[in-house]
Amino acid sequence: MDCIFCEIIAGRIPTRKVYEDDNVLAIYDIKPQAPIHVVIMTKSHIPSAAQITHENVSAVSAIFTAVPKIAAKLGITSYRIINNCGPDAGQTVAHLHFHLLAGKQFSETL
Ligand code: AMP
Ligand code: ZN
Repeated sequence: MDCIFCEIIAGRIPTRKVYEDDNVLAIYDIKPQAPIHVVIMTKSHIPSAAQITHENVSAVSAIFTAVPKIAAKLGITSYRIINNCGPDAGQTVAHLHFHLLAGKQFSETL
């Protein structure tokens, strides 16, 4: 399997785990862009947000039901969630994931 996040999910690459359930894995980003930077990924391999369908959307909703649990675990009440879809948007890993960023005051614009 040529997907680094699938390798992480399979336990073949060590990471700092934040949260895990049957459908979702959340890890600390290796190159944090905020004081708190967590990557939340589906356990099933969906290449990007562009491949979300009626058939696989439950894997995506599992991410968003995990978000409040992850925030509670991190002790945060304010955070930004970002998805990069496609290379021009900055997607570097072709396995659906959302960035949860917190721990600083963000600008209202990007
Ligand atoms: P994106 O650029 O939106 O595709 O996000 C991929 C993210 O995964 C980047 O922020 C990387 O720093 C992060 N990343 C890549 N490899 C690892 C790893 N082994 N452990 C933790 N985070 C990683
Ligand atoms: Zn994958």
